[in-house]
Amino acid sequence: MSATDTQHHSSDDSRQVVELYTRSEKIYPREVQGRYARLRAATVWLLLGLYYLLPWISVHGQQLVLFDLPARKFYVFGMVFWPQDFILLTGLLLLAAFGLFFVTALAGRLWCGYACPQTVWTEVFIWLERLAEGPAAKRRKRDRGPWTADKAWRKIAKHSLWLVFALWTGFTFVGFFTPITELADKVLRFQTSGWESFWIVFYSFATWGNAGFLREQVCKYMCPYARFQSAMFDDNTLIISYDQARGEPRGSRSRKLAHAELADNKLGDCIDCTLCVQVCPTGIDIRQGLQYECIACAACIDVCDDVMRRMDYPTGLIRYTTQNAIDNKPSKIIRPRILLYTLLLLVIMTGWVTVASQRAPVMLDVMRDRNALYRELSDGQVENSFLLRVMNRSNQAQEFTITASGLAGLNIFGDATVKLESGELGSLPITLRAPRSGIKVRNDIVFTVQAVSQPELTIQETSRFIGPR
Ligand code: SF4
Ligand code: SF4
Repeated sequence: MSATDTQHHSSDDSRQVVELYTRSEKIYPREVQGRYARLRAATVWLLLGLYYLLPWISVHGQQLVLFDLPARKFYVFGMVFWPQDFILLTGLLLLAAFGLFFVTALAGRLWCGYACPQTVWTEVFIWLERLAEGPAAKRRKRDRGPWTADKAWRKIAKHSLWLVFALWTGFTFVGFFTPITELADKVLRFQTSGWESFWIVFYSFATWGNAGFLREQVCKYMCPYARFQSAMFDDNTLIISYDQARGEPRGSRSRKLAHAELADNKLGDCIDCTLCVQVCPTGIDIRQGLQYECIACAACIDVCDDVMRRMDYPTGLIRYTTQNAIDNKPSKIIRPRILLYTLLLLVIMTGWVTVASQRAPVMLDVMRDRNALYRELSDGQVENSFLLRVMNRSNQAQEFTITASGLAGLNIFGDATVKLESGELGSLPITLRAPRSGIKVRNDIVFTVQAVSQPELTIQETSRFIGPR
């Protein structure tokens, strides 16, 4: 069936056409001011500031956050992660997931309202739209009217602003995967590689489409989190709710009517101004109860509080609350699911810190030569051969020296240094010799690999030196 298919019902005396598809109406959310709007603006500045500035920060010549895929190295705040550190990446993802579960169970859709990239970028796109096309009411009127020169230039201005911002977003995104100063240089000289160009354009286009056009549709129809979060909600979860008992029966009234006289006039506190609907970015009416489309942006709280103040009524007709509080039951913050998420977060965090702190910046693997256990030399010494695999996991090239200890007179025959680039894995054949006298059949020895310029970069590995029976 096509989207516009209709279903025909016939009965004996009538035929009815039921539309299964309705076009989504463009939403023009009215501007709102208030403490939650200010909080959201501050969050937008903070998060976007981090996004756009982080890739430009370098320490000791190294970009602070860089996911260098070709070199298979991830630089994150001075730490270098390798593909072998996959377990740490998995741990971080688990931490993020359980952190989100925890916040959702405790505070509902705070993430959606203040920190989700879709919310954050949409907010900026709406600011730019307002800059070019004016307030929501004017935009709606102009959009419904005929094309004029004024309408055309405003649309051009809006899309130009959107495009510049989207391109900057796409460029910054790629700057997390390619050193951003090199990328900027290539962009200015039109010398970006095919992949770099593709991702800049793709990500810019995605930003432009999601934040400029799809907006609330992403939250309503595409976001998986919106669908499964209800499983994390309970009657103690923080939600945004309209106080039905206080607000109903709604209706217009004279401003002279005192709050104390409302009950006598069979009126609740809601003056039915519909401003809470007009400011809603998802176009819902919070007075109809909790709906999955609500992204908890709190715009309706801000505007309703303003109405209440102007009417000289108490604020909080729409407010952050819990279902239990609405039902006049006590709300509990500490409850089994919160304890469970806290425990899981602590376990994952402890595991992550333990594994991360034990990560050596040098990796050493010692293998014995399997062809000969030992060789007796004519000068009375015994010789064993090994293959050392050394990996430089620091973020710069290093020269390493190798020493062996644990046996009297033990010495390395031949070269015992290796130069490795950052991330390079080197294989080094090592021959050890020790005087025949005093050697047992099995002798525990220790290999030490140490960086010449940074002696703290060191690692040890035990092995066995085999002597004749
Ligand atoms: S903004 Fe407040 S007073 Fe106005 S319709 Fe909404 S709930 Fe009622
Ligand atoms: S109902 Fe209120 S909190 Fe929910 S999306 Fe609409 S304006 Fe935001």
